[in-house]
Formats: sequence, C-alpha cells, structure tokens
Amino acid sequence: MHYLAGIFDFQLAVLAGLAACVAAAGVAAARYRRCVTVRIVALLESLAHANDQIDHQALHDTLTQLPGRALFEDRLSQALAASPADAGAIAVVFVGLDRFKLVNDCRGHACGDQVLRAVGQRLVASLQARDTVARIGGDEFALLINGAGDAAGAAAIADRLRHQLAAPFVILGQELRLTVSIGVSLYPDHGRDGSTLMVCADLALDHAKKIGRDNCAFFMPTMNGIVNARADMEHSLRHAVAHGEFTLHYQPKLAVASGLVVGVEALVRWQHPTRGLVSPNDFIPLAEELGLIVPLGAWVLREACAQNRTWQDAGLPKLKMGVNLSAAQFRQGNLPETIAAALAETGLDADSLELELTESMLMHDADGATLVLERLCSMGVWLSIDDFGTGYSSLSYLKRFHLDTLKIDRSFVRDLSVDADDAAIVRSIIVLAHSLRLNVIAEGVETADQLAFLRMLGCDEFQGYHASRPVPADQFEAFMRRSFALSNGRRTGMQAGTEAVAMPTLAGR
Ligand code: C2E
Ligand code: MG
Ligand code: MG
Repeated sequence: MHYLAGIFDFQLAVLAGLAACVAAAGVAAARYRRCVTVRIVALLESLAHANDQIDHQALHDTLTQLPGRALFEDRLSQALAASPADAGAIAVVFVGLDRFKLVNDCRGHACGDQVLRAVGQRLVASLQARDTVARIGGDEFALLINGAGDAAGAAAIADRLRHQLAAPFVILGQELRLTVSIGVSLYPDHGRDGSTLMVCADLALDHAKKIGRDNCAFFMPTMNGIVNARADMEHSLRHAVAHGEFTLHYQPKLAVASGLVVGVEALVRWQHPTRGLVSPNDFIPLAEELGLIVPLGAWVLREACAQNRTWQDAGLPKLKMGVNLSAAQFRQGNLPETIAAALAETGLDADSLELELTESMLMHDADGATLVLERLCSMGVWLSIDDFGTGYSSLSYLKRFHLDTLKIDRSFVRDLSVDADDAAIVRSIIVLAHSLRLNVIAEGVETADQLAFLRMLGCDEFQGYHASRPVPADQFEAFMRRSFALSNGRRTGMQAGTEAVAMPTLAGR
C-alpha cells in the first residue's frame, strides 16, 4: 500500500512539473514548442503505462499473472449484476491442489511456483474467454463460470477440469502428477451475492477435501451447520487448554521376539464436559491451526515425564516414554530447552524419554531440524519417526538426521498377512532400518497373525490392540505389574528396574 501511495505521490509531482513545463513552453520560441509537446506526450504515456502496471499489480497475482481475489470479487459482482436470476446458473468454482505442501517440501519452492503457473495456464485454457480464473490463496484458484447452465452442467465442467489437471505436468524436466479438490456454488440456488457464493464454494471445497480429496462437492445448506459446529469447537478447545481438560492414555510397546514390554506411548485425550473423551484426531489439527498445540504439547510432555518418574519411583521397570510432537512444537526455536526443563522439573532421565516425530516436520526445514535433532540427541533423548512410510518419497533424511527408531505406519500393518504389497513394504522398511542400524517398531498390531508375520520378518518391536489399547495411567500400571510378575516368574537373572517386562495374555486389553 505504501509502495503504491509513494508512486502516486511521485506521479503528482511529475504532473506538476509538466504543467510548469507547458507554461514555460508557452513563452518559448515556436520551434521548441513542438519538441516540448512531444516530450510531454511521451511522459504522459509512460505515466499512463506505469499506472496500468500499478493497477495490474494490485489486482493480479504476481506469480501466475492471474487475477487476484479483489479482481475476482469485482468480476463476480459485475456478472451477478448483469445476470437476471433466471438466466441459467453462474458457477463459482474453488479449486484446491491436494497436498501441494508436499511438492514444495520435496521438490523445492521453484518447482512449486512452476506448478502453480502451469495449473493456472491449464485452467485458463480449459475455460472460455468470458470466464475468470483467479488465484486466491497459496494453492487455491477461484473460477467464475458464466452460463454454466444448471447443476449438471456445472458438475460436467468441474469433472472436465479435474481430468485435465490430472494429466501429468512436466516441471523442471521431471514428470509430476497432481490431484485437485473442487468446491462449487451456484447462483441463484446457493446465494444471490458474491460473498455468499464465495463462502459457499469454500465450504464445498473443504468438504471435498474432507471426503478424501481428488473430489468435487457442491455446496449444501448443511455445510453451514458445519461452520457453526467448528466455531463451537474452537471456543471450547480454547477453554479446554486454559482449564486443563486433558488427560493422557498410555499404550505399551513390546519386543516382538520376547513379548516383553520395552516402552510406552503417551496419547492425549480431551475430557470434554458433555461429549466425553475426544480423540486427538478430532482436535489436534484444530489445536495446531489455532496455535494451541504449543501449550498443550508442553503440558503433555511434562505430564508424561512426571508419570514415568512416578512409575519408576514406585519400583516399576525403567521404560522409554514416547511423546508425540507436533510440527509447531518442533518449529519453536526452544524445543531442546523446553524438553530439558520438563526433564529437570520431573527428575526424569533423558534416556527415559522418546520423542515421536513425523517425516514432514523434518523435511520442512531440514537445516534447522538437523541442529535441533543434534541437540536433542546430545541430551540423550531417543528420537523416532512416527507413521513411517506415509510422508515422503525421499529417504535421504534417514542418513542426514540422527534417529533411533522407525515406526511402521499402521496402514501397512493392517493387511500385512494377506496383502503381498503391504508385506513387501513392511519387509523393506525393516531391512532398511536394520541396514541403517535403526530400531524398528510396527504400530497397529491387532492380531496374532500380524504379530507372527512381523516376527518372521525380524521386526524388533510392536504396539497395538493385540497387546493393549491405550489406557489410563492406573490401568497401565496394573498391566505393567501383571507383566512384571509374569516376566519375573519366567526369567532368571533379570532385575527389577531393568528395561523389560512380559506381555500378560491380553489381560491389558
Ligand atoms: P500415533 O502417534 O501414530 O498413535 C497411534 C494411534 O493409533 C493412536 O491413536 C492409537 O490409539 C492408535 N492405535 C494403537 N494401536 C492400534 C491398533 O492396534 N489398531 C488401531 N486401529 N489403532 C491403534 P490416537 O490415540 O487416537 O492418536 C492419534 C494420533 O494423534 C497419534 O497417532 C498422534 O499422531 C496424535 N497424537 C496423540 N497424542 C498426541 C500428543 O500428545 N501430541 C501430538 N502432537 N499428537 C498426538
Ligand atoms: Mg505416535
Ligand atoms: Mg503412528
């Protein structure tokens, strides 16, 4: 804004100068007049050109040169003003690139920028000149389609767009495939003014993403209810963080070969006053979005460390306590200090704490991550990669970062004993981990068959309902005491306070 105002002031100054020139030219000799006039015209032309450029910059996205949000809104209100309500639908179509962040993270921002340009060009080429394609957000485009006909007509257009964007892009010499999610609202059915239609298309896009991406959704009135529900959820989550409405459940990690308990994972739950226990999948993403994950994560960390210390003080074996970290916590510059403080306050040894990270959080800023991981590692804290296999195609980070454990994602374990592809993936992850001298654990083990398969593949540890669901602290302690008693009965030469206890026969479930 300041930049534009500055240019405008500059123009005025130049115009004032020109006026003076003209006056001066009036008293000058005639042969100079023509020359001065030509120069004034040239100056005015270049000013007009600069003005056009300023207008263009203000109204267009600099990366794609497509209209931006303001110009889109303007064209939409013009189209609505010019169109009687019964003239056939005007469609507002929001197109979101699925998982575009991965393109930036894995292939770099230069590639991401080219993808956005290429998508913009493909959208423009797919529509008619009277339609508008705008870029209205990082990975979101808005389309104004005049005369879309009826809902079926708009659906056919959206479908065509999805297929055209699914064809591979060649960016920086490499082939890249994308999917998109599409949200559609129609005039007059879903709204009579531009901002309502845009909100409706945005809600429909959200819905298309939620139902699995690579999808198209039309606005439905029930989506308004979703917005209200989200506002409620936002309010009660803020209240919950301020008033400490959370609790931790604990799930054991066991050695595949011996069935001994070797660790535990802390999993947060929200004790909602009316809804009961809410699963982290239903509130962690919102907590991340609202910036609440940092105080919540700090509470989880401290609580889990304190609980582990309490169990060790009560004579239970020394276990590693796994704590999940979210990307926002990792990005905070002071993560090692926060962890050191939690350990110091609770008196827990660093080697009794394991941080569960995800692939994406390391890749976001690999240089920064290297420093943080080195500091955590030198403190003696264990580091594991959660949900391994779901994030990145690049594995170079495995040798770059100092890690201890790979956790094979549950999605590969589920059909392990019946799906040859899943078995091949799990086998490869185990071989990869062992070649890099990493420990490997399978999560989501629900059956004896899956466990037997993992044993055959040489997996080190497992976690899942087959041994125990995540349970409150007192139930976990009872599970541990039963396991401890069992393993003491079973083994010779193992002392209380060492790292493993046996799995009771599914008693902890
Ligand atoms: P995760 O860290 O991968 O945790 C494993 C999830 O799988 C847990 O879900 C656990 O209850 C579930 N699970 C364990 N065994 C089985 C099984 O045999 N079968 C099936 N179907 N599921 C199993 P939960 O507790 O709902 O947590 C979901 C996710 O929420 C976690 O995935 C983690 O990413 C996140 N989360 C949980 N607690 C925290 C936390 O304190 N901080 C952060 N940042 N994220 C957390
Ligand atoms: Mg985890
Ligand atoms: Mg996991």
